[in-house]
Amino acid sequence: SIVVTGATGALGRLVVEHLLTTEAVPAGDIAAVVRDKEKAAGQAARGVELRIADYDRPETLAGAFRPGDRVLLISGNAVGSRIAQHTAVIEAAKAAGVAQLAYTGILGGPDADFVLADEHRATEQLILDSGLPYTFLRNGWYTENLTENLAPVLAHGAVVANAGEGRIASATRDDYAAAAAAVLTGEGHLNRAYELSGDTAWSYAEYAAQVAKATGKEIAHNDVPAAVHQEILTGAGVPEAFAAILVDVDEAVRRGRLAGTSGDLARLIGRPTTPLADTLAAAVAAL
Ligand code: NDP
Repeated sequence: SIVVTGATGALGRLVVEHLLTTEAVPAGDIAAVVRDKEKAAGQAARGVELRIADYDRPETLAGAFRPGDRVLLISGNAVGSRIAQHTAVIEAAKAAGVAQLAYTGILGGPDADFVLADEHRATEQLILDSGLPYTFLRNGWYTENLTENLAPVLAHGAVVANAGEGRIASATRDDYAAAAAAVLTGEGHLNRAYELSGDTAWSYAEYAAQVAKATGKEIAHNDVPAAVHQEILTGAGVPEAFAAILVDVDEAVRRGRLAGTSGDLARLIGRPTTPLADTLAAAVAAL
């Protein structure tokens, strides 16, 4: 089977969708590893096999994988707990003897030197140590991280960041999902790492200009020191630890860590990545 963990998450749902529309893959060959059966009812109704398991309860992962499965481990969202969680998944995949373990890491892989990347770097190493055939999908920033958070930008008429002129080669979740489906269904992807990102990198100043264009409003780019950004975020109700991670990501952006445009993503999906302006236009239309 082709097995997707985190299949009820935003990215996982899209991966399953791409697999369901891949002609060579019957729905019955797709398995979704989920912790909440109810959330996956729609996928089950379309013929996807459900395997119930929780990263936090290793014993539940025993039935998640079978010999020869091609598996996508979608990184968990519990920052700080993910090394233990991913270890449990990798051990279960190893015990089952899967044929491929693909993993959604972060752009740069071992060179990603920011806090959010720590667990991704550790997970890649655990997968290498397992000896399983792997595919590293090193995902860049999601465009939706920005476009799903337009409310404060519009309320204050400003994009606030601490990344200077640093650039972000973002792509949409659906672009990354299509790439994941491609490596799970195609050949030639074993023991390879892909640096996945959008075709075009933009700065926060350019992002502000694009939001202005899409909304017809005046939108400034306020580049502030890291400590000021941290205060603004916590003042707006973002939990302190998460605000610190966002500020640290901006510092990484300043250093160019999310700017890479290798072209791997467009090559894997066989089309250009979705332009920022398109995602922004859809987000503005939905406001
Ligand atoms: P979501 O939060 O929508 O999905 C996370 C998935 O992980 C959900 O399906 C969730 O299950 C599942 N999950 C979490 N904890 C467990 C657990 N203990 N056991 C089993 N399953 C679990 O995130 P996205 O789909 O948007 O993104 C996927 C991943 O990509 C994130 O988890 C994160 O690691 C990373 N990410 C990357 C970003 C980037 O810009 N590159 C931005 C944001 C995230 P359930 O549906 O039951 O909640």
